[in-house]
Amino acid sequence: MSSQKIYSMTIYPKLILDALTTVRYPGTGKNIVEAGMVEDNIRIEGMKVSFSLIFEKPTDPFLKSIIKAAETAILTYVSKEVEIVGNISVKTIQQARPEPGKLLPEVKNVIAVSSGKGGVGKSTVSANLAVALAKMGYKVGLLDADIFGPSMPKMFQVEDARPYAETIDGRDLIIPIEKYGLKLLSIGLFVDPEQATLWRGGMASNALKQLIGDANWGELDYFLIDLPPGTSDIHLTIVQNLAVTGAIVVSTPQEVALADARKGINMFTNDKVNVPILGLVENMAWFTPAELPQNRYYLFGKEGAKKLAEEMNVPLLGQIPIVQSICEGGDNGMPVALDENTITGQAFNELAAKVVAQVKRRNREQAPTQIVEISK
Ligand code: ADP
Repeated sequence: MSSQKIYSMTIYPKLILDALTTVRYPGTGKNIVEAGMVEDNIRIEGMKVSFSLIFEKPTDPFLKSIIKAAETAILTYVSKEVEIVGNISVKTIQQARPEPGKLLPEVKNVIAVSSGKGGVGKSTVSANLAVALAKMGYKVGLLDADIFGPSMPKMFQVEDARPYAETIDGRDLIIPIEKYGLKLLSIGLFVDPEQATLWRGGMASNALKQLIGDANWGELDYFLIDLPPGTSDIHLTIVQNLAVTGAIVVSTPQEVALADARKGINMFTNDKVNVPILGLVENMAWFTPAELPQNRYYLFGKEGAKKLAEEMNVPLLGQIPIVQSICEGGDNGMPVALDENTITGQAFNELAAKVVAQVKRRNREQAPTQIVEISK
């Protein structure tokens, strides 16, 4: 083709799109058109072309190279005479999740606490983290969704409480129990724990949806959900119905627990679920006897969860030792985080501070839609 002929050619959006299909996004291996990264706003005036590329975050490591590759593709496959006018506008978007707090419009952050295995201290960590956050002055809600072993009523000494319902704006809403400055509901307050394992998945999920959507949680800074161990329908119910800010995975340093924690992390980060990991908590990290406070005995192995966090590139949010008072605090309904003057209380308060920092970082990264003009 002579350059004169090129100059007289008509450029139309399909030509531009075809050229852009030659650009691959390294993260997915798909081309940028297929990956939905080219916005449907291609404008053409003579040889002048403008369009927008969509990235999930402004910090996308491939952003600049994709822009360059897009320009080169157009010049190569459409015409050298094409002038890409001004800038390519880059639109960064939030992940396609349900509207934040679709069910809970007044809740700022939803945190799922999970573990690969049972018995690693997930509920202990959830309860103490909730108490520590409330002590920091945040409005906190805690939902015990561990249908197979609801332990919050005992850990907060509210086993006999029966939450009542109130009609608010024409709807009957369950009023969460208030204890230690936070709001609490547990599936265990409604179901006889002996019967829980007989519940079919669908029944459990429905009950849970009610505890979320038909309860008067009101304004909350942090809504913590203590999930059942492993992976289940309950996990899906939660991620499908709530915009989960991030997940915390609790593990002991023991090999078998770590293998399941790894599976748990992968479940949250897979494409379909797509919940960011706020970090790992290493519980039962070591044992220190009261009479030998300097000594640490690594009963379940040393720093296993710390190493897993490094390997999977997720933050280690805290290491909690094995201490009798933690166990006793759970049994007598007085979580140790209530007293920050103890070593254990301090450990959970430090954990809470790290969680807050991670949530803030995540929220900054997922700032709402913004247009960033990139100069050529
Ligand atoms: P999960 O929710 O993972 O099943 P729990 O939180 O119910 O685990 O903890 C299991 C048992 O271990 C409980 O009796 C609890 O009090 C105890 N426990 C958990 N973490 C600690 C700890 N750091 N030190 C001492 N006991 C602990």
